[in-house]
Amino acid sequence: MTPSPHHPITLIGVDEARRRVLAAFSPLPMTQVPLAEALGYVLAIDVIAGANVPAFANAAMDGFAVRAADTALATRGHPTTLRVIAEAAAGYANETPVMPGTAVRIMTGAPIPPGADAVVRFEETEEGDGGTSCLAGETVQIYASVHPGENVRPIGEDVTVGETVLVRGTRVRPAEIGVLTTLNRTRATVHRRPRVGVLATGDELVDAGEPLGPGQLRNSNAPMIAAMIRRCGGEPVALGTARDTASDLRARLAGAAGLDLLLTTGGVSVGDYDLVKQVLQAEGRIEFWEVRIKPGKPLAFGWIGETPTLGLPGNPVAAAVAFEQFARPAIRVMLGDRSVAIPTVTARLEGRVENRGGRRHYVRVAVEASPEGYVARIAGRQGSGVLSTLAKSNGLLVISENLHVAENGTLLPVQMLDWDLG
Ligand code: AMP
Ligand code: MG
Repeated sequence: MTPSPHHPITLIGVDEARRRVLAAFSPLPMTQVPLAEALGYVLAIDVIAGANVPAFANAAMDGFAVRAADTALATRGHPTTLRVIAEAAAGYANETPVMPGTAVRIMTGAPIPPGADAVVRFEETEEGDGGTSCLAGETVQIYASVHPGENVRPIGEDVTVGETVLVRGTRVRPAEIGVLTTLNRTRATVHRRPRVGVLATGDELVDAGEPLGPGQLRNSNAPMIAAMIRRCGGEPVALGTARDTASDLRARLAGAAGLDLLLTTGGVSVGDYDLVKQVLQAEGRIEFWEVRIKPGKPLAFGWIGETPTLGLPGNPVAAAVAFEQFARPAIRVMLGDRSVAIPTVTARLEGRVENRGGRRHYVRVAVEASPEGYVARIAGRQGSGVLSTLAKSNGLLVISENLHVAENGTLLPVQMLDWDLG
């Protein structure tokens, strides 16, 4: 049966679910941020160079600025002698023209003086042989010829005026911050960060630091999910823990008004106290519930008022896996990122994994590079409550819904959880 958007309770595949989730999101409005805070944002407009970088031709090496033609016959056996007429340091203009038969002693980064078109490295002069320093007023022996442009960084070598240097949709990394600075930018125009609410649900939950009573367990999901939100560029908003009553849940959900996305954990299964789905259905709109994914089949998507809401499973690993598949790309779309897919490599499975039940199975693995390619070792016990195995892994091995057994040695895709972030 083809799932219909109007048919609330459907079991759908991961790709279909991701398509339907992502259809609900678009890049958020633009804002300007100081460059020092721009890391992890995504550029909202193309960056066009207002000037050449570098703005002037300069020395790429320490040596002597020369007219290349003067060095045509220079060899170690028959050096060419040039008269040193000036010294040029980085940071200063040097207007002394290099006439035929002359040279300017020049340091890396210093402007190439008029008339010169190449730099002979110190190593190719008598200095490089441990000889004397050839200062202005003296002569220098040139041991090798240079061609025009050699050891010179031409004007605009890095960036040419008018060029589109960075395109919108580019994630700001340290390199982008450097490039923007060379263009004299102190701010970046980006999409604002999504504000993402985190609401844990469950009578059994106790925050860290509080005493643990009988039958209670730590609310690990809320801090973990908040960190996942921050890591992929969102701004987490803590909404606390809802008890398993419809009234408390409703009261807490009111805190989601105005947020760009709400993430709940727990309460989406078929247990007696699994109220998130019911309240989503009664108070808002439910788009789908249940996805052919393992771990994490109970997963709801819908709206509370105007706020898109992902009801993540309660089991911590299921919540984390569902976050990576659905919440992370939604956050990246809102940030304006051009590519929202998790970076994926092909790795050889070390171990054997069964996959009954026709669900896409995400297996926690530790991936290592080997001379034969990537190897994915099963990181530990795979129960959906075994969070420590997630901490031992750096990837999720993907076993398709049609593959009932992944045999040892099979080449399979692995989502690299720690790549492409920040
Ligand atoms: P639920 O879907 O609400 O039945 O949750 C499934 C299981 O996930 C629960 O039995 C808990 O063991 C666990 N769980 C739910 N919420 C959290 C949470 N916030 N932190 C850690 N474990 C949780
Ligand atoms: Mg619960």
